[in-house]
Amino acid sequence: MVASLTDIDSGAAHPAAGTERVHELLEHGFPWMLFPADMERQFLRDGAAMRAQHFLLSGLIALLVYNGFLLADYLMARDVFWLAVVLRLLVFTPISLLVLYLFHRGALPWLWRDSPLAVDVLALLGGLGAALSLGILLVVSHSPLIFFYPVGFIVVITYGNVVQRLRFWFAAAFTGLLLVIYVASVMGTPSFPPRLLWTVSSLVLSVAAFTLSATYFLERDERRRYLLTLREKGLVQDLSLLHTRLRRASHIDALTGMHNRRHMQEHLALLWERATREASALSVLLVDIDHFKKFNDRYGNPAGDACLQQVGQALQGCQRRSGDVVGRHGGEEFMVLLPHTDAAFAVGVAERIRQAVEALNIRHESSTTALHLTVSVGVASCVGGQLRGTETLLAAADQALKQAKLEGRNRVCSLAL
Ligand code: GH3
Ligand code: MG
Ligand code: MG
Repeated sequence: MVASLTDIDSGAAHPAAGTERVHELLEHGFPWMLFPADMERQFLRDGAAMRAQHFLLSGLIALLVYNGFLLADYLMARDVFWLAVVLRLLVFTPISLLVLYLFHRGALPWLWRDSPLAVDVLALLGGLGAALSLGILLVVSHSPLIFFYPVGFIVVITYGNVVQRLRFWFAAAFTGLLLVIYVASVMGTPSFPPRLLWTVSSLVLSVAAFTLSATYFLERDERRRYLLTLREKGLVQDLSLLHTRLRRASHIDALTGMHNRRHMQEHLALLWERATREASALSVLLVDIDHFKKFNDRYGNPAGDACLQQVGQALQGCQRRSGDVVGRHGGEEFMVLLPHTDAAFAVGVAERIRQAVEALNIRHESSTTALHLTVSVGVASCVGGQLRGTETLLAAADQALKQAKLEGRNRVCSLAL
């Protein structure tokens, strides 16, 4: 397998893609408490599981607190206590428990179950339901203490905005609707003393304003933390991408796109270890272009470069087995590694390579060997465990190559060890 530098450059997305948008949001903020659509979706989805858990737990606690207010009903609105019992224990509680159970089991209709905003919708509806029950009791009771009853709305506002921590826009809608219920029920309460009305209303309004702004700031911080995490993840991704690219680039020869000397030597060491372990044969071929200096002198360096690329391709074309590896050893010399290959077979491969280069029929009028470009090949083979190290094998291949040069070039010489 040969990877080219162009592959490396075009193979992966630009490392900085995506992180720029995160930088921008961190710098300029998101005053409307929304990210761009796709990021918003991801943000909601990422937080959905934790919010669902929180919703279930705090929903149960809120339900207990809600029913605990039966005591307040008994003390402040004794005349409609039976209605309070019906509303709280027989209507609101069973419905809430059923919704919480269905939500927990994932048995709600698909839109609710799959939407990351289901929690907010359910919490909002629950809060409004609780507020509605307060409003009803407020309107129907004639107890003299009922005028203090609207303080209960503060508890409901706190539940939605602080305990359930509705998403800001849901909290805004919840607060608005709750205030509508509050105003309607207060107006429906006959002869509400004006002094008390303003006092209680200012309490309800200020708690609404405070908790809503708290929701805003808490969510802003949560979103900022999310962006910082995204940025961190992006940076780690960019770094590992860069690392992969550099690693690959450092193993590739820029001119031919073939494996370079470093890669070949590392690979040879691996094959060597395997051959030693398995006591199997291993062959190395050194392929050197004949009279290449003269080729450069005659046709120029750019033609020499093109010639090296052509020879490289020809060598790759001669690869037969998947384990064989071809690379540029340096200058006008190439290396072929043949695992599980004995001397006889390796010589056959070398001969095929020699013929393939001849078949390229590249004119080389300055060569004293032929009128076209030729190569000499040195072959060294061994059986794993025989030698002390890869250097011995390489030295043998080099010696065989020198022998081929001495014998007149354009030939294969081998040295079995
Ligand atoms: P021999 O037949 O004995 O191998 O002779 P040779 O001329 O091929 O060998 P020598 O070692 O004398 O010269 C090798 C030449 O290869 C010298 C150098 O200019 C050329 N060469 C090495 N790398 C490159 C390259 O990347 N591009 C080009 N165009 N030439 C290169
Ligand atoms: Mg050479
Ligand atoms: Mg040469």
